[in-house]
Amino acid sequence: MGEIQRKVRVELGPDSYEIVIGRKLGEEFQAFARGAGFSKKAMLLTDSHVGPLYGEMVCSWLKEAGLEPALVTVPAGESSKSLATAETVYTECIRAGLDRKSPIFALGGGVAGDLAGFIAATYMRGVPFVQLPTSLLAQVDSSVGGKVAVNHALGKNLIGAFYQPQAVFMDLELMKTLPAREISTGLGEVVKYGLIYDKEFFAYLESHVKEILALEQESLSHLIARSCEIKAAVVSADEKEAGLRRILNFGHTIGHAVEKETGFARYNHGEAVAIGMVGALHLSVSLGLLSADVLPRTEKLLQMLNLPIRAEGCTVDKMYEDIFHDKKTVGGKVAWVLIAEVGKAVCKSDVSAKDVREAMAYCLA
Ligand code: NAD
Repeated sequence: MGEIQRKVRVELGPDSYEIVIGRKLGEEFQAFARGAGFSKKAMLLTDSHVGPLYGEMVCSWLKEAGLEPALVTVPAGESSKSLATAETVYTECIRAGLDRKSPIFALGGGVAGDLAGFIAATYMRGVPFVQLPTSLLAQVDSSVGGKVAVNHALGKNLIGAFYQPQAVFMDLELMKTLPAREISTGLGEVVKYGLIYDKEFFAYLESHVKEILALEQESLSHLIARSCEIKAAVVSADEKEAGLRRILNFGHTIGHAVEKETGFARYNHGEAVAIGMVGALHLSVSLGLLSADVLPRTEKLLQMLNLPIRAEGCTVDKMYEDIFHDKKTVGGKVAWVLIAEVGKAVCKSDVSAKDVREAMAYCLA
């Protein structure tokens, strides 16, 4: 048997499900797959980095559970989150004979998860979906909350749905091959949870940097479980993003502008969000909402976690323009998520251009 270290239940009425966090979870995963009432024909969707490492192993788990999985591998990287790739995967679904009760399993980072979830939500108007996230970002963020999507040439995640998985299995053994930069990417979102929701968790991160970066099992499973609990609590209160869920966008307004101005190449998402959080904290301080010491405290933590705190290659003018084209901007009003104290987020839309531009200038190198 493997070792289950934590379980987190995401409460969404009839769509509630469990996240299982641990090591060597093959048998637990098989027990779930046997008892879920799935058809035999199944799909395991993965990417070209994760597939060669773990695809066969997870396929053999599924076969032992009595399923007949088709292993589908898409090229690693954001470009696979497209309607063109989705089309090829639908073809594989039909060829493999998947029916309405055939499960689609996502094995990989947020790209595999978002794409597989989108296919599961739409193939035959919805088939069972199960996630096996293998990147830290997918574990603490994209696999919780039910947002599934593909990108359009004119914008990220523009075509999608809310579609909850039946279960999520996070096997920490599979993280040993995750590149260090991808660990830091996920940690950017983890710091966000501390700032918006839980001051003790923030302090825990500050005092466990060494253990976290060494992927020490206890710290890792705690930080993943606590992040999932926080995201699950927010999502359970507001599944379709009508209110509270907005606080999850903390750091993302300036972060998205940084990603856009650097051509989605210099910084990955978590790095851009780290810079965006620094900007949003500066704004929170200059609006008199937040005590000034939280800004250097957060900058220190982000740096220790190998995340950038200043952006290169951007200008305030362009970034200021970008924020009005952000998907989250409604009716020309930017919904700023700000921090009133560590662990407490507030939303504000009447923020002056001067304060915003100063905050942007602060987080440019
Ligand atoms: P990703 O899926 O591209 O994974 C990052 C890289 O790590 C890839 O090269 C992948 O092959 C590799 N990888 C993953 N696990 C590995 C492992 N165990 N060993 C070796 N390599 C491994 O990107 P990501 O950072 O996981 O996720 C980003 C995506 O998630 C974006 O498309 C973003 O839009 C989406 N996202 C979705 C949500 C949501 O709510 N649905 C939230 C946040 C982000």
